Amino acid sequence: MRLCADVGGSFVDIAAFDDAGAIGWRRKVPTPVDDWTAFVALFADALAAVACDRVSIATAGLVDPLSGIVTSANIPCIDGRRLAAELGAVLAVPVRVVNDADAFVLAEAARGVAAGHDRVFGIILGTGVGGGLVEHGRIVSGAGGIGGEWGHGQVVHDSRTAPGANPVFACGCGLVGCLDTIGSARGLERLHRFLHGIDADSIAITRGAQAGDPLAAATVDYWCELVGGPLAMLLHAMSATIVPVGGGLANATALIAALDARVRANLLTPATTPIVVPGRLGQDAGLIGAFVAGA
Ligand SMILES: [Zn+2]
Repeated sequence: MRLCADVGGSFVDIAAFDDAGAIGWRRKVPTPVDDWTAFVALFADALAAVACDRVSIATAGLVDPLSGIVTSANIPCIDGRRLAAELGAVLAVPVRVVNDADAFVLAEAARGVAAGHDRVFGIILGTGVGGGLVEHGRIVSGAGGIGGEWGHGQVVHDSRTAPGANPVFACGCGLVGCLDTIGSARGLERLHRFLHGIDADSIAITRGAQAGDPLAAATVDYWCELVGGPLAMLLHAMSATIVPVGGGLANATALIAALDARVRANLLTPATTPIVVPGRLGQDAGLIGAFVAGA
């Protein structure tokens, strides 16, 4: 039996998997974001409740593959810690820690919509833009654990136009015009405000576009252009054959279908079936990805 957890900024989803990968015991509790002692106790209590000899964790943060140090803005109590080593020492069991976007891609590659594909580039379109690359069932971690993270780097410019003519927004990373500033759910809303001066949430914008609202449709079209171009370029470079989508915008199936059409129109190798597709595992993807990652 293995204890697996999906540690987010709001909740910890924690479950026991049998060796065949089936979920048994399961709990969901608030994340003790500022309390390391409570964080450790959460796992100690779970190990007391179910007999597991290993722990696998997917978490919202980068995991340096060399040092094991986790960088997590949303969960201060694990930020800067060698989480696997420190937690493993206290619990006296092996612990593995992976980034949650990487876990999502691992899960979809193993049991989800990307099953059967050797090279999978999964993307997260939620409050931010994230991603992960999985090759032959293994995470490509990259330097500092940043492999597959495609949200940062300037994709929108106004250097050749009047200032303010293009949707160039400051990003939390310190750069401007990052994909993260327009590709996320907040980014879609930001783009709508920039184009039309209207405040609307991402659900209203995507539903509006589907219902024939020309302003919402124009926002979605521009969003697909800004996100689809870089995504097609990455698919060429990575030779990935499928892009499972997670995060809140994955539920906007018409939006993802429009993005898929834009990406496929930009591919040099024609694709007759969808490439950019919503993930299939939903809320279980993080847990399953933690299980697949092993310990
Ligand atoms: Zn950025």
